[in-house]
This record gives sequence, C-alpha cells and structure tokens, in this order.
Amino acid sequence: MNLLYEGKAKKVFAADEPDKCVVCYKDDATAFNGQKKGAIEGKGAFNNKITNFFMGMLESHGVRTHYIKELSDRETLVTKVEIIPLEVIVRNIAAGSLAKRLGLAEGAALACTVLEFCYKSDELGDPLLNEYHIAALKLASPEELEAIKTAAFKINGLLTNYLEAVGILLVDFKLEFGRFKGEILLADEISPDTCRFWDAQTHEKLDKDRFRRDMENVRKGYEEISGRLGL
Ligand code: 5GP
Repeated sequence: MNLLYEGKAKKVFAADEPDKCVVCYKDDATAFNGQKKGAIEGKGAFNNKITNFFMGMLESHGVRTHYIKELSDRETLVTKVEIIPLEVIVRNIAAGSLAKRLGLAEGAALACTVLEFCYKSDELGDPLLNEYHIAALKLASPEELEAIKTAAFKINGLLTNYLEAVGILLVDFKLEFGRFKGEILLADEISPDTCRFWDAQTHEKLDKDRFRRDMENVRKGYEEISGRLGL
C-alpha cells in the first residue's frame, strides 16, 4: 500500500478509491511532543476497535464522521478528509495542562464544560489558540468553527452518557475534524490515547496518562476500556 502519511501513533495509506484512505494504528507511544518514546504491546489494535466503536455509536446519533469500515485488527477504511489543523479539546473536569496552567487540583470540578483549541503544530508544541487566532490565521471559517463547536458539545454529551453507564468518567478529550465535499467530519481517533478516562468509583486512570506519568501497567487503560465497552 502507498504510504501517504506517518504520524506518532498511526500510518495512513492510499485506498483503492481516491476519496478514501486506510488508517493503520501502531503500538508506538509518545508523550510530551515526542520527547518520551515507547511502545505499548497491543495498543494499536485496542485503539482501532475502541475508536471504531465510538465512531459507529456517534454516527448512529447523527454525528458525521470519517469512519467507513474496520478492515482488520489494526486497519480501518475512512473518508479522506482535509484535516483542519486544530486540536479541539473538551474538558469536563480539571486535569492535565488545564490544572497546571490555572493552578487547579487535578479532579477539581468545573462550573461548565470548557472548550479549548490548540494549533496542530509539532514544531510549535501545539499552542493554545482562541477564536480570533483561528480567524486571523484562516485556520477555519466562522461557519466551520460553529459546526465544530456544535459537534464537539454533542459528542461530549453522547460519550459522557455512554461511558457513565459503564462506570467511566470522561474527564477530557481531544478531537480533530476534517473537510470533505463542503462538510465537516469528525476524524482522527477517540481512544485512551486522546481521552482521559477515570474509573467512576476509584478515579483510577484508565488512559495514556499511565504511560505519560510512568505508572505501572501501561496497558491497563486500553484493556479496561475495551472490556467495559464489551469489545
Ligand atoms: P492536556 O492539554 O491536558 O495535556 O490534554 C487534554 C486532553 O486532550 C487529554 O485527554 C489528552 O489525551 C488530549 N490531547 C491533547 N493534546 C494531545 C495530543 O497532542 N495528542 C494526543 N494523543 N492527545 C492529546
């Protein structure tokens, strides 16, 4: 297959049809903008099935996504979108960089859901942006940004409710969107690499923070989330 792009956790190959491509999930794990590197055995297969499960669930509730079909344990056929260079971060509970930046305790309640945008740029370290920066840099049109914001809140509601039923707290997560034939589609992945998932009872971390923070059993989040979703 013809490799179109290789990222830190995924490879993207050309598909037979020009409007589609094949995403292949790797076991490689990185953190802190690539400064910490490693591998988590089986991660690629877990993230492939977890992402596809969530994409299918969201599609069934009217969210437009790039997901087409799972091809193998690591490979998925998706619509070939033009990725908008924004990381769209949704936060329900203070954690990670928000807790650090604002001096909040990790786990502190937020009076409302917080939406953040970062510029997808490894060279710049994904800096935080506001809507004026997005307009000034022409990263997305006002209409596109409205569609992204509406989709992000809808996705948050659907994921939060679904996960609550299986005893998982959705602390925060990162989304990416793409353009396809005038439409905005949810792209990239929804997995323990891109979300903070805590056990609702114990607040045990079930996501990539186990790797980022040198905790024991880095596979646990992937296994546990997959199991709770019945995958
Ligand atoms: P934070 O800004 O606190 O580091 O991350 C907030 C949320 O977005 C976390 O769930 C984290 O997993 C996700 N996130 C933010 N930036 C990235 C990124 O560059 N890569 C990945 N995989 N996830 C990210």
